[in-house]
Amino acid sequence: MRELDTDILILGSGGAGLFAALHAHKAAPELSITVAVKGLLGKCGCTRMVQGGYNVALAREDSVERHFMDTIVGGGWLCDQDLAWKLVTLAVERIRELENELGCFFDRNPDGTIHQKAFAGQTFDRTVHKGDLTGIEIINRLAEQVWARRIARLEEHRAVELIKSKDGSAIAGVLFVDMRTGDYVFVRAKAVLLATGGGPTMYKYHTPSGDKSCDGLAMALRAGLPLRDMEMVQFHPTGLLAGAHTRMTGTVLEEGLRGAGGYLLNGLNGQPGERFMPRYDPKAERATRDLVSRAMFTEIRKGNTTPHGGLYLSMSHLGRDDVKKQFKGMVERCADCGFDLAGGLVEVVPTAHYMMGGVEFAPDCTTELPGLFVAGEDSGGVHGANRLGGNGVANSTVFGAVAGDAMAAWVKGAGYREPDRAAIAAAVRFCEGPFTRSASGNLESMREKLYDVMWEKVGIVRDAAGLLEAQADLNALDRGLDSYALPGRERAFNLTWHDWLNLKSLVAVSRAIAAAAAARRDSRGAHFRADFPECGALEHSTFTSIKDMSVSMKPVTFTRVKPGQTLLRDVA
Ligand SMILES: Cc1cc2nc3c(=O)[nH]c(=O)nc-3n(C[C@H](O)[C@H](O)[C@H](O)COP(=O)(O)OP(=O)(O)OC[C@H]3O[C@@H](n4cnc5c(N)ncnc54)[C@H](O)[C@@H]3O)c2cc1C
Repeated sequence: MRELDTDILILGSGGAGLFAALHAHKAAPELSITVAVKGLLGKCGCTRMVQGGYNVALAREDSVERHFMDTIVGGGWLCDQDLAWKLVTLAVERIRELENELGCFFDRNPDGTIHQKAFAGQTFDRTVHKGDLTGIEIINRLAEQVWARRIARLEEHRAVELIKSKDGSAIAGVLFVDMRTGDYVFVRAKAVLLATGGGPTMYKYHTPSGDKSCDGLAMALRAGLPLRDMEMVQFHPTGLLAGAHTRMTGTVLEEGLRGAGGYLLNGLNGQPGERFMPRYDPKAERATRDLVSRAMFTEIRKGNTTPHGGLYLSMSHLGRDDVKKQFKGMVERCADCGFDLAGGLVEVVPTAHYMMGGVEFAPDCTTELPGLFVAGEDSGGVHGANRLGGNGVANSTVFGAVAGDAMAAWVKGAGYREPDRAAIAAAVRFCEGPFTRSASGNLESMREKLYDVMWEKVGIVRDAAGLLEAQADLNALDRGLDSYALPGRERAFNLTWHDWLNLKSLVAVSRAIAAAAAARRDSRGAHFRADFPECGALEHSTFTSIKDMSVSMKPVTFTRVKPGQTLLRDVA
């Protein structure tokens, strides 16, 4: 097995991973830093897919207090308030850094100020963007800066296990599969950042990139790290519904479409029907994602659908030319799938988009395991029960940078640790499992089963009976995967092997989601229980162990503002 040493090892090259690399390098240029990534640096992950934009309080009439209150209220008061405060305050620094130091160009007003658009669930138009393809601008500039600094990279290297030190007291490194050869690589590091971007790709309709399969969260679970609020999975209301034959189904049409005044219509007798959102919420289509997705799900369950079982998005009343100009990328994406966004109707369905839950962490990105840091969508607590559109990329870039600074400081006092060699051998045995058995099982049907179980029983509306069934289904799926055998012995770019590894991670994390959803007997934010439809006590969940599937509920600590209060009174 190849072995490498690096001071700082970063898993993932999204907004969190790349910002961490740049900040660690700036803080301590003498350190060796390695970015290891399942895809190609700058070409994978969800930060690149960011469409709508980045929330930040820049305008004179806006304030970080206002951004904070929107985040807390939108998050159903479940956010860790210190993390949320860090998010809104450091977003201001980060957007300046993106423009002034890293070379991003965002859209501007005629007077030269940065243009900020409306996103749902916000009391001020504060979403900075580059047209409707903001993520490409951000990731291209970050990747260029990482390349320019000659930061080491291990591309097409899949992290498969976090390896602790021999005495179990800290992290010692990470085991990888080099996807190009199928060989194992062990990287010893003084500090490791988990930034693999979560990603709820276990649902039938989902938005995140195909390289994301919750590997980071699954590795954290196996390492015994507590995961917070795993039941909180966000569904974006407007996923494209373009048929079962295309991967475009489930991909997202950005929030700004509803922010700009787009309507959602149901279907009646095969024809476009009424605009239903005003019946569900006074903010109608501009309500937060959880409310809109649930209203859509209810209409779908009533059978008020398009011929393909979805609903319609209508923009034509806003003027064909304006829509074309404002949402060029979205208009093209819809045209590719045969829809006229600017002048006609587009079929949409809610789609799994984001995990608010993740590894518990402190505001300096440290975790319970010394030497292991976390940032971005792998972390939990910033967004509480529901993330505001535009707060996702702010989260990954803000905390990625915090982690980079913190790791640079941390490794100064740390040495390399002797890894637990038995744990490396066990992880290799686990990965080799499907090569060692005789052929059985069908991965495709297991994936379809996972999609359906999660969509039907652990999706937008849940209840005790469905969650119990889902837990049994997931356990059976896990057993099925454990007896699955690969048809061939080829190792280089063996995508079936990687599919099996993907499914192992997805099923492990799905079990945590289902267990946390069963433990939370109330409805809040993205988590809705048909059998407990009211909000209950303000508690967050902690999934503590994959072995005994235990979940504990803990009261939320209100460090800055209590329910019923607002920080805005203090603002002039
Ligand atoms: C279509 C879409 C549109 C979005 N639009 C917006 C928006 O407008 N505004 C907003 O705020 N947010 C938006 N989001 C959410 C936002 O993209 C994410 O919140 C954020 O970018 C996550 O950043 P990250 O760095 O944590 O993860 P990512 O950017 O997803 O990066 C994860 C990285 O980890 C790598 N990785 C995964 N597994 C492994 C492994 N086992 N080993 C090594 N590497 C691994 C991946 O290849 C990738 O490089 C959108 C998301 C999607 C999917």
